[in-house]
Amino acid sequence: MAIPFLDLKAINLEQAAELEDAFHRVLNSGWYVLGKEVEAFEHEFSSYCEAEHTIGVANGLDAIFLILKAYGIGPGDEVIVPSNTYIATWLAASHCGAIPVPVEPDEQTYNIDPLKIEAAITPRTKAIIAVHLYGQPADMDAINAVAQRHGLKVIEDAAQAHGALYKGRRVGSLGDAAAFSFYPGKNLGAIGDGGAVTTNDAKLAESIRVYRNYGSRVKYHNEVLGFNSRLDELQAALLRVKLSALDGGNATRAKIARLYSEKLAGIQGIVLPFVLDSANPVWHLYVICIDKRDALQKLLANLGVGTMIHYPIPPHLQPSYAALGYKLGDFPIAERIHQQVLSLPMGPTMSVRDAQQVTDAVKASFV
Ligand SMILES: *Cc1c(COP(=O)(O)O)cnc(C)c1O
Repeated sequence: MAIPFLDLKAINLEQAAELEDAFHRVLNSGWYVLGKEVEAFEHEFSSYCEAEHTIGVANGLDAIFLILKAYGIGPGDEVIVPSNTYIATWLAASHCGAIPVPVEPDEQTYNIDPLKIEAAITPRTKAIIAVHLYGQPADMDAINAVAQRHGLKVIEDAAQAHGALYKGRRVGSLGDAAAFSFYPGKNLGAIGDGGAVTTNDAKLAESIRVYRNYGSRVKYHNEVLGFNSRLDELQAALLRVKLSALDGGNATRAKIARLYSEKLAGIQGIVLPFVLDSANPVWHLYVICIDKRDALQKLLANLGVGTMIHYPIPPHLQPSYAALGYKLGDFPIAERIHQQVLSLPMGPTMSVRDAQQVTDAVKASFV
């Protein structure tokens, strides 16, 4: 029996009746953009994230971008980003006209190494974007301390970490502002695109509300050069349903992760995920590290186990970033990680039996 990497259909069908109700509620309301559903979702997500404000936007990339924009970051500025991340983190800085300045990860957590940030700071640096990669919170106290010394903004890219805890506190309110994605495959996923900014900074929240809606507070009065980046009523209504299942889904992911870590412990050549004492990850991905990654991926595919690579090419080696002039060897830790990581099947509808089949297949591939 095949184990898919992620079964999105099964996840959404678990809440089919409630999702259909939400759809009909929006259909019959006759109001489809910036209304009651978005407002209700923003309130509910704020309390979930222990943040004062949520602003629903079109996607996760826009969420990061709009935070930078609203903080006035633009041409001539630099933004510290992880060398080991999904390219969206970098693109948000680039699309503001700023330059993304990569910093290498900690070799155990794969998240940005706070000890390496200071060396990358220049008089032009305005902000640090910390990514909670794979659902594991970055070391926010250490990052905030560096930022404070240099007067920098701290932005969480929480696109993979809905519900994760750092020292008992939810991600989303650990820096100046946080960006979330509701892309269907995320821990909290819409049935389409969606995103949000969370923050305790009332001024920033107000500014992003203006920017997301054509730069206007009052219809047809445009204060700034705004954008169209709104979470729509339908996705908001669906996300309210999905939010009610987030903690349950994260608990299942944690159970599967525990089982993986138990069953795969001690296999020569496989490095399992490392979790900081201060962190409760939400296991967006369960990522192992292995030398002969491509060979293992093929063997697992032959045994019916779906895996993915997050990510195969680091941003600094992408053709889209050729203009920054980086070459192979410039960020060796990120490069090694990109060559060795493999994400095992993970999701809120996986059973213990599924997970057992995965670990059996990994072991079988190792004899
Ligand atoms: C998914 C993701 C994003 C972008 O989210 P979209 O909604 O696809 O724009 C940004 N950062 C990280 C780390 C992500 O995983």
